[in-house]
Amino acid sequence: VKFVIVAGGVISGIGKGLTSSSVGVLLKACGWRVSAIKIDPYINVDAGTMSPFEHGETFVLDDGGETDLDLGNYERFLSVNLTRDHNITTGKVYMEVIERERRGDYLGRTCQVVPHLTDLIQDRIMTAAAVPVDDTGLPPEVVTIELGGTVGDIESAPFVEALRQLRYRHGPQNVCVAFVSLVPCLGVVGEQKTKPTQAGCSTIASLGLPPQLIFCRSDRPLLPETRAKIALFAQVPVEAVVSLHDVSNTFKIPQMMQEQGVTNSLISSLHLSWRLPTLLER
Ligand code: ADP
Repeated sequence: VKFVIVAGGVISGIGKGLTSSSVGVLLKACGWRVSAIKIDPYINVDAGTMSPFEHGETFVLDDGGETDLDLGNYERFLSVNLTRDHNITTGKVYMEVIERERRGDYLGRTCQVVPHLTDLIQDRIMTAAAVPVDDTGLPPEVVTIELGGTVGDIESAPFVEALRQLRYRHGPQNVCVAFVSLVPCLGVVGEQKTKPTQAGCSTIASLGLPPQLIFCRSDRPLLPETRAKIALFAQVPVEAVVSLHDVSNTFKIPQMMQEQGVTNSLISSLHLSWRLPTLLER
């Protein structure tokens, strides 16, 4: 199984959920079996008790799992049925580590964030990634992992470390890191500012996850010079910098990515071979 990690910087609510779903759509259109995992770095065990004013509606899965609404996006975009195990929260992993400790599983050893919590996060990812989610009944071939919050937060640190170890163990050719960032427009001439994206890319790279794809949220399409500047400072090809400007209908986002060559970038960074001419091209 291969993974696409979707993390974000600068601000939350930037479009990571839609990016994960849309990346999944592109891969699915090439004929791959795709699944999706959402990591929520909050201590709530699940979204069932959380105010809809803060995170939006609670999405209830077929197995009764009460989750973030991003899981609903994945199900709608990818035509899959996810389980509660596809939503990993800080609450769930801490609860399990503490239960294991009380049971005596770690007797004699000090139970720590690294390696006990980070190993458990990786186990949970691998277990969820193996669950068949579509009507083929076969295990997925590519799994998107969306990391909630912004990279650099104290909350998400154990997950970032677990993902770094996952990439190391699984091999960088099997894990693509996508970074979703904000490109604000300032002044009367509307200059597109790249500094927040440059800073975000260095932060995630310094944590051991150098981004291979950079999705830039902005109110208007990215200018060629903005794209070139981000590519230069983030050490990626120009095609790997993708404009994720505001659209009236978010179901247009996969097409918008396709037109900017995201499918090719995913296939080359994950060392996938072409399977079908993509449905979006036909
Ligand atoms: P995150 O997962 O980073 O919190 P979401 O994917 O949930 O972000 O998106 C946050 C909000 O922004 C959603 O309401 C979504 O519809 C909107 N959004 C994301 N990308 C775009 C876009 N390109 N154009 C218009 N709205 C968008």
